Order: sequence, then C-alpha cells, then structure tokens
Amino acid sequence: MRATVIHAPGDIRVEDVPEPTIIAPTDAIIRTVVTCVCGSDLWAYRGLEPVGQPHPMGHEYVGIVEEVGSDVTSVRPGQFVIGSFATSDNTCPNCLAGYQSNCVHREFMSTCQAEYIRIPNAQGTLVATDEHPADELLPSLLTLSDVMGTGWYAAKAAEVRPGSTAVVVGDGAVGLSGVIAAKELGAERIIAMSRHADRQKLALEFGATDLVTERGEEGVAHVRELTGGVGADSVLECVGTQESMRQALHSTRPGGNVGFVGVPHDVAIDGQELFFSHVGLRGGPAPVRAYLPDLIQRVFDGRINPGKVFDLTLPLEQVAEGYKAMDERRAIKTLLTP
Ligand SMILES: [Zn+2]
Repeated sequence: MRATVIHAPGDIRVEDVPEPTIIAPTDAIIRTVVTCVCGSDLWAYRGLEPVGQPHPMGHEYVGIVEEVGSDVTSVRPGQFVIGSFATSDNTCPNCLAGYQSNCVHREFMSTCQAEYIRIPNAQGTLVATDEHPADELLPSLLTLSDVMGTGWYAAKAAEVRPGSTAVVVGDGAVGLSGVIAAKELGAERIIAMSRHADRQKLALEFGATDLVTERGEEGVAHVRELTGGVGADSVLECVGTQESMRQALHSTRPGGNVGFVGVPHDVAIDGQELFFSHVGLRGGPAPVRAYLPDLIQRVFDGRINPGKVFDLTLPLEQVAEGYKAMDERRAIKTLLTP
C-alpha cells in the first residue's frame, strides 16, 4: 500500500510499504477514507524534533473497518469509524476518569497518512457512526480525531461556562476549533488572537466576538482592556511556545483558568508568579475519545462545521506539498484522500 514516510526534516515521501495486519486480538484494520496533516507534524518537518530513522507519519483518521481481532466486538467490518489519535481501552481507571488519552494501554497513532491503518485497542478507541456519512460531512468528522476534540478539551480544561469570557491564543486548526468549542459551551464573549486575515474570518464565522492582532505584552494589554482590566475567565492556549504560554497566563483573571493543548516546546513557568496569579492550569493530550459520541452527533446535526479548517485537499501522493503549504502558512490544514 502507499504510505507517508519522513526521511529527514523537509523530506516527506509516499512509498510502498507492507499492508498492516492484525498483531494483537485487540487490533482492528481500517481502510482510510480521509486523513490529514497536523500542525504537530510540522515539528519534525521543521527539524524542531529529531526525525531519527525514516518513519511513517499521521495520527488523524476516519475509515471503514476491514478486519477486527478476536477480542473486538464493538465494531465490525464495513462500519464507518472515527478514533482518537491516542488509543485507549476505555475501561482502565484513567479512562473511566475521563482521561482516555492517558490510558494505561495507550498507544499514540503514528501511521495514519496511508491507505490502511492498524488500530490498537480498537474496542475502546473506535466509535462507529449509525450510518455512512455523506461526503460533505467527512472533513468535519475527520477533525474529531484530533483538532476539534483538542479544541473541545482546551475549552473544558479552561472551564468555559455559559456567559463567560474566553480568549483563544493560536489561530491554527486547534485554536479555530477552540473558538467553536467555547461558543458551544456558552461563552458570551470570545476573543480570538490572530493576525492572519483568512483565519480571522474563520474565527468570526465560528463565533469569535472580538479579534486581537497584537502579540506578547501588547496582546495581553488589549485583552485586559476588553475585559474590564482584569483578564478573561478562560484562556485556551493552542500553540505551545514560551510566548504563547506567557500570553495565556497573563490574559487570565485571578481565579480564571488556562487550558493548554499546544504541545509545549521549551516552555518554562515561574512557580512564584503562578502562585500569586491565582490562575488554574490544566493541559495535556486531549481525551478526544470522551467527546466523540457528542461531537459526532453535533456534526450530523449540522450544529458545528469544523471541517472548514481544511483549506487544501490533495491526493495522498501529493502529501509533500501538503506539508510544504502548511509550513509556509499558505494552508491552515491539509486534507488527504488515499
Ligand atoms: Zn484505559
């Protein structure tokens, strides 16, 4: 089958690799319907994370079940399924506590930009839809595998409540999904921090009420000006740099909360400053599995349309161009069709 392999920073290729097979009785094999390139794939592409040996790429997927292992009874061949980027048994104490992305049997998906995918822990990971979705729903359903679920977790971790004020730091696909989540969870005012016209437009369409284009302390000052001088109730940090984390912490009011879902790269937090700020912090890889049934329903109902974050669609064979376009910020997110 054809699959994406990274050889070195900037060197993405599509190659012939063996089709995956059932290894454990808890596995399933799915035929990929659509997959995509994630902002976090760019860390390796840009050389900011070591590549090491050539390896497959991709952790977002929707597909049709081809085959299941003997322990898998929750899905069957022929069903359309969505799963998280982190697999989970959905039965261990961490899963039952709502943190499926920290399951004791967790495996991170890493081979999804390919024609077929092996899904470990398939019983707890995959959620089948009642019916095969129409083609126009596929992009939105695909976002539930990571970015929309991650934006949802950012809003939950930041404790967005009806009537509250939320700030979203980061205007990538996760940040834009965070705007959708804040709106759905009832935030009255949603301040999107963005300086790109196309992303601002989408943020407003998704429910942002205000835009802040400044960054750093200037951005913080503008947020404070919009929030009675004290900062926002909830701040969704969707980038993962020192600057974005500082911006998030300083934009939050005393007693408010930051949900941080951008994978931190060289981020340090000053303990004493955090202590005196009274700001609550919760982050980590999103427990996307916990939200799948609810978010699938919202997509089928037409309540949310996060698939709009895809502004480039390419055949899998042209995946290298998908990475390049995102790296050069010509595209927000690339959808791939095998
Ligand atoms: Zn578990």
